[in-house]
Amino acid sequence: MKKAVVMGAGGFIGSHMVKRLKSEGYWVRGVDLKHTEFTKTEADEFIIGDLRDPILVQKVVDKDLDLLYQFAADMGGAGYIFVGDNDANVMHNSALINLNTAHECVKKNVKKVFYSSSACMYPAYNQTDPDNPMCSEDSAYPAQPDSEYGWEKLFSERLFKAFERNYGLNVRIGRFHNIFGPEGTWDGGKEKAPAAMCRKAAKCQDGDSLEVWGDGQQTRSFLYIDECIESVQKLMESNFTEPINIGSEEMVSINQLAQMAIDLSQKKITINNLEGEAFKKKYGHEVPMGVRGRNSDNKLFRENIGWEPNYPLLKGMEHTFKWIQSQLNRSD
Ligand code: NAD
Repeated sequence: MKKAVVMGAGGFIGSHMVKRLKSEGYWVRGVDLKHTEFTKTEADEFIIGDLRDPILVQKVVDKDLDLLYQFAADMGGAGYIFVGDNDANVMHNSALINLNTAHECVKKNVKKVFYSSSACMYPAYNQTDPDNPMCSEDSAYPAQPDSEYGWEKLFSERLFKAFERNYGLNVRIGRFHNIFGPEGTWDGGKEKAPAAMCRKAAKCQDGDSLEVWGDGQQTRSFLYIDECIESVQKLMESNFTEPINIGSEEMVSINQLAQMAIDLSQKKITINNLEGEAFKKKYGHEVPMGVRGRNSDNKLFRENIGWEPNYPLLKGMEHTFKWIQSQLNRSD
């Protein structure tokens, strides 16, 4: 039986990847600091442990592994990455995990490795125009990510590529652009915009206003989780070894995303764009927004993998809204 390890299997993308690998007939070992939050893991073995510890990494990376997926990272939404307070932990924790993993995968001759990078590694100077951001893979340098999270991702991309060049590591690198969907964090500060909008709209009553951080004109694209998993597997099956975007090209403003959630709630809700002094007064810091515009550019993926994601954002939001509504009903 073919064997796979999923690092970060207790998290959003990792837990979905475990399900996918099980459906493909793999024996799967999951590793994470914590268990899955929303459904029971389908992994054959689930190890709770800290991947910053090289001893644990030695233990979980076997000699006869076919696939290893590295999703573990210290991360969160804008309220976690862009406020500054978590910078040292984000860099230190994720870099340690990746340093341990790259080294051990070479030592144990793992057949193929996936590393999850992020669109946050793209230079901020190409993402100032909300209508026309540039995120083609070849625009990565000169580097100027807008957060320490992005710098760590760029460092770790280079780390895995160096292990490829010097030690023959067989690695694929995906730059994820805002992945969302059911069973993702939806509350507590680490959630991303689609989940935050769905939660807020689901909690509002008729006549309420839904708070959006900033002027709401900043743009993003969001990729539904099923298509993220499909893209990763297509990349893994391919011979393409350079870092590549995994995202949607359906760009919307954050206010448009908020309006989608409001429409799905079928309530009379207005949008309250909280900015400047009003925001500072409420939260004690500037609006944590990231770049002004960001969109996936799928040209390279289309040309090299022969497939691309095309699930409409609205459909993904529908599933996510229903799932968050069900979570809220459970906690009532
Ligand atoms: P997530 O936070 O749900 O999952 C990450 C998991 O890693 C968590 O379960 C966490 O407990 C685990 N982890 C963190 N530190 C650990 C440690 N020291 N030892 C063991 N486990 C540890 O995040 P996700 O959304 O599933 O993202 C997966 C990967 O994809 C991450 O590397 C993330 O940076 C990257 N990514 C995600 C997105 C997105 O929109 N979700 C976008 C870009 C990149």
